[in-house]
Amino acid sequence: MDSKKSIAKVVFSIDTELAWARIHHRNLDDYTESLAEYRNAVDWLLHSFEKYEIPATWAIVGHLFLNNCTSPPHPNITKPEYDWIEGDWYKFDPCSDVKEDPFFYAPDIIEKISDSPIKHEIASHSFAHINFADPGCSYKAAFDDLNECQLIYRERNSKKMKSFVFPQDKVGNLKALRDAEFEVFRGAGVYEDLRSSSKFSKLLFTLKNIFGLANQPIEASLENDLVNLPLSNHHRLERPMNINNPYSFVPLYSKYLVLRNSIKAAIKTGRIAHIGLHPIDFGLNSEKFRTHFEKILAFIQQSSKKGNIQIITMSDIVD
Ligand SMILES: [Zn+2]
Repeated sequence: MDSKKSIAKVVFSIDTELAWARIHHRNLDDYTESLAEYRNAVDWLLHSFEKYEIPATWAIVGHLFLNNCTSPPHPNITKPEYDWIEGDWYKFDPCSDVKEDPFFYAPDIIEKISDSPIKHEIASHSFAHINFADPGCSYKAAFDDLNECQLIYRERNSKKMKSFVFPQDKVGNLKALRDAEFEVFRGAGVYEDLRSSSKFSKLLFTLKNIFGLANQPIEASLENDLVNLPLSNHHRLERPMNINNPYSFVPLYSKYLVLRNSIKAAIKTGRIAHIGLHPIDFGLNSEKFRTHFEKILAFIQQSSKKGNIQIITMSDIVD
């Protein structure tokens, strides 16, 4: 692990999942428009990271690496068996190709990230966006999913991926993660406690966000022989506004202030700001969100040039 604790660090990890984060939990038809803009959002993010010379960790769902797949879907992978979903986890897999179903396959996106002049990290976000923390996910189901990601990646790059971001930030099956030769994962950080906290605590957190107050910077720690690099900030658009999701009512300018103040707090304490993003939030209808984010990138670049902060990817923490 890096011993230079006195210099603050900033790391971006980007959950890149297209349809895979939506099909088991929501109605895909509600997202046709935003998914159609997904590739445009990735282009914008890549362009912006290039403009401000900032590398990021792209945590990509393994199925998106494929050009195509066939029926029956992925018979070599042990499937998780959750009591909240009937039948095979892969029942929504179209078993077609990228031309037919571009929300389920995306080798073009991976190529673009790899071809960027900025040295981004390609990391894993699981093969099929399964829930690793649910008791329905056995060791074998977890390992098979993770191992499939490594096999596909190694086939193309003759090396393994080091970093992993858990779907929905639900951390579990760490032994399988280690056995599949990953080295670093993103813990849920402050959001872990928030999930199980009272309505009052959630309201307080929302108020804190409205006032633009910083989230606490994080530090890396060792867990089950892996490095946990937890989230400090989940920077989400959260639109449309929804009464069940108080965070969706936080003004975009406040979200910008939270992020900027969180990075300042990391600089002040010599700790780490770990910022999670989703490309789906950066589509064409997110102009204001984009404008604010660009200001954040400019601020990070300035801070880096002054020597106040080091920009790293997740795997840099173990290199
Ligand atoms: Zn498939």
